[in-house]
Amino acid sequence: MCGIVGYVGPRPSQDILLAGLARLEYRGYDSAGIAVIDTEGTLGMRKKAGKLSALRGSLGDHGLPDGTTGIGHTRWATHGGPTDVNAHPHLADQDRLAVIHNGIIENFGELRTELLAEGVEFLSETDTEVAAALLGRAYVDNDGDLTAAFRAVVNRLEGAFTLLAMHQDHPGLVVGARRNSPL
Ligand code: GLU
Repeated sequence: MCGIVGYVGPRPSQDILLAGLARLEYRGYDSAGIAVIDTEGTLGMRKKAGKLSALRGSLGDHGLPDGTTGIGHTRWATHGGPTDVNAHPHLADQDRLAVIHNGIIENFGELRTELLAEGVEFLSETDTEVAAALLGRAYVDNDGDLTAAFRAVVNRLEGAFTLLAMHQDHPGLVVGARRNSPL
């Protein structure tokens, strides 16, 4: 069980995401992270194991560039220990795409095996990174249609989960889906 927040709007997103995570931290408090598409159209990401204060501390030294589209996550680990690498967001498509996730993807093992056979390299032990990698592949297969790619990926996932994703090619868009899980 974790907390996830997304923002699209006119204001700089970083402080809005952090305020949202502060309200959601009771749902998951072993790691926290955010991703923002900045005004240049580049996706930036920061994540830290530990409480939200650890993430705030990291951003305090070197914040992400301003952007008005973003997603944030507080984690309660189910797959992989509470480390910086296992924290969300997870990235794909050459770090241009970010995914956060609440819940469990039951069939992540077989999906991971499929992707490993294609040469995908995973950084984390999470079920979430499998969804991110699938989305990266589907994004290319769907000619850059993020919504269509996301729909195709969600249809392959089993379990109870909520997912949010965004891609730097689509500033102003956060896509989300839920199955048997709140959003
Ligand atoms: N299964 C995911 C993980 O272990 C998400 C857990 C959560 O809901 O925070 O990272």
